[in-house]
This record gives sequence, structure tokens and C-alpha cells, in this order.
Amino acid sequence: MVVIVGIDGLEYDYVKEFQFPNLMQKNYGITDLSEFEEPRTMVIWSSFLSGKNQEKRILAEKEMWKFRLGTEETFFSRFNKHIAIDVPGYTQDMEQHNKERQAMKDFFAKKITVEDYDKIVFEHHNKIKQKFFESLGQDYDIVMGYFNAADVIGHLSFGVKSKMKIIYKEMDDIVKRTAEKAGMLLVISDHGMKAIGRFGDHSTYGFWSLNKEIKLEKPKPMDFYDLIANKTNR
Ligand SMILES: [Zn+2]
Repeated sequence: MVVIVGIDGLEYDYVKEFQFPNLMQKNYGITDLSEFEEPRTMVIWSSFLSGKNQEKRILAEKEMWKFRLGTEETFFSRFNKHIAIDVPGYTQDMEQHNKERQAMKDFFAKKITVEDYDKIVFEHHNKIKQKFFESLGQDYDIVMGYFNAADVIGHLSFGVKSKMKIIYKEMDDIVKRTAEKAGMLLVISDHGMKAIGRFGDHSTYGFWSLNKEIKLEKPKPMDFYDLIANKTNR
């Protein structure tokens, strides 16, 4: 089974500083986002899934967040049985996305606390986590789980290192539990984060790690397409 753990906003510098061994796996590094105008979540995940830079196409959309690739455009089409849990550009739950955006507005309007905000994010995280581990126990050829807590919580708390460390530890535990089920295991983020006071903004590179000794020199998000598609059992 090929397993992809997609972690929005996972920052290379924090992974390195915290030294979480499961996130780092055998090989890890940063991704090259230099051909993108900006590190936009929807653009980078869609480009990763399709092996093509989707920036122009997505920016031409009226509502970027509603963009969806067809299965045939993604590496999932190269496998018999796949599941992609909550993946932006493909299967993301828009209801939750809208709820999180509203919660951020409510926080800045002082209607809710940062703890209320975090709770909304964690409840969703736990649902995704459960579905992800259920899927690993089934007969899929490829499973991708997408986890957004590092990014969504990071936007309000990336500068609060003690809190971020708890979230990175949670992600490290998820990868640890996943490792025994996976043939190839890719951990990938769209972009990292940088602290702006207590808040966080997107950094201009992503993160990747693999459970194999494969040399990758600062790959672009699109470069993983062949690596994944070549694991096809068709
Ligand atoms: Zn993102």
C-alpha cells in the first residue's frame, strides 16, 4: 500500500528543531515552490496531485476553494482502489473549511477565544484521523489523508512554540502508527509557516519525507507524481 500523509503548513525548521523522528523518516527536506507566484494551499495540493502546475487554472476560478480535479487528472487514477480523505483540490469537506474561516473571523472580532478556535480544528482533526486509520486497515492500493491542524492552528499560534510542538508531536505519532502499514510512505506539506509575532504566515517552501533511501534534491510538488504513479499495481 502506498500511503501519503498530507500535512498542511508543516514547517521544516520546526520539524528539525523538535527532532521528531517519524516525521523525518529516512530522508527529508524542503520542496521548491519558486515557480509559484505565492504559496497558496489549493494551488500546491492540486499541482501535487496532478503532477502539473495548476496555478493559472485555479487563479482563473471564481472561487478558488471550490476547485476540484477529476480523478483521471490525479495519480490516484493509476491505482485500482484509492481513498483520498479531505484532500484540497479533490475531496475536501467545504463545510468544515467554511466553519474554520468563520471561526477565524470570529476570533479577530473577539467573539470567540483562541481555545474555542483550536477546539473546532481539533474536532475535525480527530474525525479525519479516525477515518484515515480505518482506511489503512482496508484493502486500498493507495491512501492519502490530509491533516490541516498545523496550518489552521498555526495561523493564530505559530509563534507559540509550545503549542505547535504538541501539534507536531501529534503528527509524528500519526506517521509512527502509519509506518507499519505502508509500503511507500510519503509525508508532504504544501508550504511551511513563519512566525509573525504569535501568528503565522505561509513560508515559501514545503516539506517532504520518505521511508526509502531515495535521493531527492529540493523537489517540486509536481515531481512526486511519477514516484507515486510508478508504484501502481496495475
Ligand atoms: Zn496550506
